[in-house]
Amino acid sequence: MSTQTTGRPCAAVRREDLVPVCPNCDTELPEIHFRKQEGSFGIGRGFVFFCPHCRKVMGFGTQWYPFPG
Ligand SMILES: [Zn+2]
Repeated sequence: MSTQTTGRPCAAVRREDLVPVCPNCDTELPEIHFRKQEGSFGIGRGFVFFCPHCRKVMGFGTQWYPFPG
């Protein structure tokens, strides 16, 4: 188990004007779907995020921060 360290920090730039694109079906994603994961695969409980078009899994999250308002 090795920890990779990059020399330079990654800059996070907020771009509300850009729409993410699914890496699988190349569809623009104005929204992304997620559902609660009851997982027992060692991934742990949390949320699974997936493309609403091809349902390819984007990633997993252990917490969900609700949108303000
Ligand atoms: Zn997709």
